[in-house]
Amino acid sequence: MFETQPDQQLFAELYDANPQAIVWMRAIWNESGEAIIDFEYTYCNDEGLRYLNLTREQLPGLFVSNSPTLPEDRRVSILEELIDVYTTGKKTEAVGYNSNLKKYARYLRAKVRNGVMTVIQDTSNEHQIINQLEEQSRKLATQTQELQEQRSLMDNILKHSSNGISVSEAIRNEQGIVIDARTIMANDAAVRFTGLPLDIYLSKTAVELDPTIIESPYYHAYVKTLTTGEPGILQYFFPHTSRWLELSISKMDNDHVIHIFTDITPIKEVQLQLEKSVQELKRSNTNLEDFAHAASHDLKEPLRKIRTFIDRLKASLNTRISDTETHMMKRVEAAAERMQLLVDDLLEFSHVSQQPRQMESIDLNDKVQKVLADLELSIEEKQATVTIEPLPTIYGHRRQLQQLFHNLISNALKYSKTDTPPQISIRSKVVKGADVPSNIPVSQSDKYFHLIEVSDNGIGFEQQYAEQIFDMFQRLHGKMEYSGTGVGLAIARKVVENHNGFIWATSQPGIGSTFHVLLPA
Ligand code: ADP
Repeated sequence: MFETQPDQQLFAELYDANPQAIVWMRAIWNESGEAIIDFEYTYCNDEGLRYLNLTREQLPGLFVSNSPTLPEDRRVSILEELIDVYTTGKKTEAVGYNSNLKKYARYLRAKVRNGVMTVIQDTSNEHQIINQLEEQSRKLATQTQELQEQRSLMDNILKHSSNGISVSEAIRNEQGIVIDARTIMANDAAVRFTGLPLDIYLSKTAVELDPTIIESPYYHAYVKTLTTGEPGILQYFFPHTSRWLELSISKMDNDHVIHIFTDITPIKEVQLQLEKSVQELKRSNTNLEDFAHAASHDLKEPLRKIRTFIDRLKASLNTRISDTETHMMKRVEAAAERMQLLVDDLLEFSHVSQQPRQMESIDLNDKVQKVLADLELSIEEKQATVTIEPLPTIYGHRRQLQQLFHNLISNALKYSKTDTPPQISIRSKVVKGADVPSNIPVSQSDKYFHLIEVSDNGIGFEQQYAEQIFDMFQRLHGKMEYSGTGVGLAIARKVVENHNGFIWATSQPGIGSTFHVLLPA
């Protein structure tokens, strides 16, 4: 049952039940009663006390001018505001932050009797949400800006990259098999390299652009990369632009592949030119070798005739020949003999120039023994000692290997000192390519070799000539003291090369020389 005349207690209960803070302040006038000088906190509902952090007992004697709930620097303006509401009778509404209470609130003020009522709506929670929202939108803005910066960085990289970069998307049939592809992104360089206008590049599929592409190595590499994830690299000639491009393909995800194009036209041109030169060189070498073979072969017969007829001429002239004529005859004979040597050596060289066809397992100990037997006379004559350590058995060409050791050992005997009997040593060990102090290619550094060394205590030579003595007709010593044609070491090198090996020499004048032969183990 409602009472028609609610009592004061009921009003107090109604106000206390109100979830908004309600404060009523009584105006305090000066002595003359002309001006309001302060407001007293006369009534607060429960929510008002809670909001202001006060107890009901603290209210008497609490004024705007001394309220701990109001920041000091705000007291005057609040007083002015209250006086304004009181004197004008206007209702005001304001939003503010109370730094003493650390709360945001909306304040509604209205004159009630001889004071002003303030209804305070705590908006701290709303503010918190707003703050959070603002914070989030600030973050979002920074992220967006960062993203934009990254995007523009990426765009710049793509735009200015000298490499062509494109991304393609696979087109699959109903069974999921890749049957075609479409480019979804291509930078300026890619457009330039391929010579395709961007709109066509991006709108047409690979097969539409070139129906034969399915058969191309590029397409095969693309499908392989997409299915296995293994990156691929290949060189490709683009007829539209007449450029050689190196393409590297890498998988981005199940349907996307990144293509990077590098223009290698200048390198490729040099490479092709080089390949052509090598081919020409090979051809001219073969021609030369054919010529040397033919010439030395064809010279054999006339030479034999010259030597025979010299012998016959000598016999028939017998004593009817003067000393001068005998001397001239001797010189002709010597020249013919020298020519014979040259022809024999050239023929030998052209033999070894032809890659050996018959390869077999060869015990080098046997080979060296055979060479020593051939050179027996010269060894005896020079009182030479030859020490041989056990040698390996290698896979090679019988005749050529014998020729190799013959040339090295006969040189060791030939280029000996006149006053010292030659001491020749032949030894062998297994080494790794990387452990050898020679210019052997890096690709060979992990392989194992037999290092066979032939050393002598002969006249030696300056190390600076160590390379050139392996060239055809290169001789360091005069033909008067040491006979020879300068072909022996050229043959030795050819034999070693035919066996995929390496040969080099080290020497010191007056001390001796060592010839190092590296043959694959
Ligand atoms: P040659 O027919 O002149 O001996 P090679 O090709 O066998 O031709 O050798 C080339 C040159 O290398 C020789 O003329 C000689 O000057 C030098 N040479 C070769 N082997 C030795 C050695 N063991 N000691 C010193 N010099 C050597």
